Amino acid sequence: MLDTQPIQVEKATESKISKVDFSNIQFGKIYSDHQFSISYDGENWIKPIINAYKPLQISPASPALHYGISIFEGLKAYKHEDGTVAVFRPDMNFERMNLSAKRMCMPQIPEDVYYNSLNALLDIDRQWVPVNPGTSLYIRPFLFSDDDFIGIRPSQRFKYMVITCPVGAYYSKPVRVKIETHFVRAVEGGSGYCKTGCNYGPAIYPARLAQEEGYDQLIWTDGKYHKYVEESGTMNLMFIIDGKLITAALGDTILNGITRDSVLTLAKDWGVEVEERKVEVAEVVDAIETGRMQEAFGAGTAATIAQIATIGYNGKDYDLPPVEGRDFSNRVLRMLDDIRYGRTEDKFGWLHTL
Ligand SMILES: *Cc1c(COP(=O)(O)O)cnc(C)c1O
Repeated sequence: MLDTQPIQVEKATESKISKVDFSNIQFGKIYSDHQFSISYDGENWIKPIINAYKPLQISPASPALHYGISIFEGLKAYKHEDGTVAVFRPDMNFERMNLSAKRMCMPQIPEDVYYNSLNALLDIDRQWVPVNPGTSLYIRPFLFSDDDFIGIRPSQRFKYMVITCPVGAYYSKPVRVKIETHFVRAVEGGSGYCKTGCNYGPAIYPARLAQEEGYDQLIWTDGKYHKYVEESGTMNLMFIIDGKLITAALGDTILNGITRDSVLTLAKDWGVEVEERKVEVAEVVDAIETGRMQEAFGAGTAATIAQIATIGYNGKDYDLPPVEGRDFSNRVLRMLDDIRYGRTEDKFGWLHTL
């Protein structure tokens, strides 16, 4: 592959940063000064540019709008005490994005485009990486069809972009989740393992119904029998049962979460037994009822660990042990934060520093 052209830089004429209240940031509301974009013309990646964050021009016939021909990623950059900016495991997001791209008949993003854009954008917006404890800069790479053709077929032209936004310390109250027995998120043979736009829109309605019943989020079950638990909202789902860490094995219906992988890696390193397999709803309910379930949590980039307080199933609520006594997940959260903020050795080589 030919090396892509150098990135053209058009700095924003005015920075918005002085208007931002960094002690009170709402997720996804405020974007940093600059955006990166590059076009794919059917053969080559052309016109890489960093310019001011602004609305796009897109054809009304773009398949991104009509058929969800669009994929995305989510990762975070952290500021260390010495001013270093470190991105957590961007190599995994790169691989996953290209896996999603393949599933959606989109071109592979070249490695140099991915890393050069990340480095250049974070460098120009370095002061947007917040410093307060628990805060970070959320990075959203995305790729979408830039065709001007409404037929259903593989697109020819695409745009890859990266935008970023500062995010506050994630304060998460333990959540009430409902095991979903009607709606489905993903099926065997489907695209559940991809971060493609069309997986997320339809998940909002079932989640809203659960919220009306007093739950914060859903636990998705398998699309065929609703017999196995899969994920919780947009997080991977994990349990500690009889001291073992148990989570759904990867496959068509499970998103290969980077937090999931990091939690499993730490667990193995600490000598905690790990089981990646199908997890029956019946097993989960039984483990709670017999007091063998010590911990249950979601794992994802937004919260890292979202503790589950209560699981609802078939109209009944099952309460889990108090969060204070959850040794494993609390330790994982501390360790991941210590690595990300550079307070401990990056033993697994997870940080990409700038
Ligand atoms: C993004 C996502 C996750 C979590 O992945 P991370 O890489 O840990 O952020 C889990 N499940 C779904 C469905 C997701 O979209």
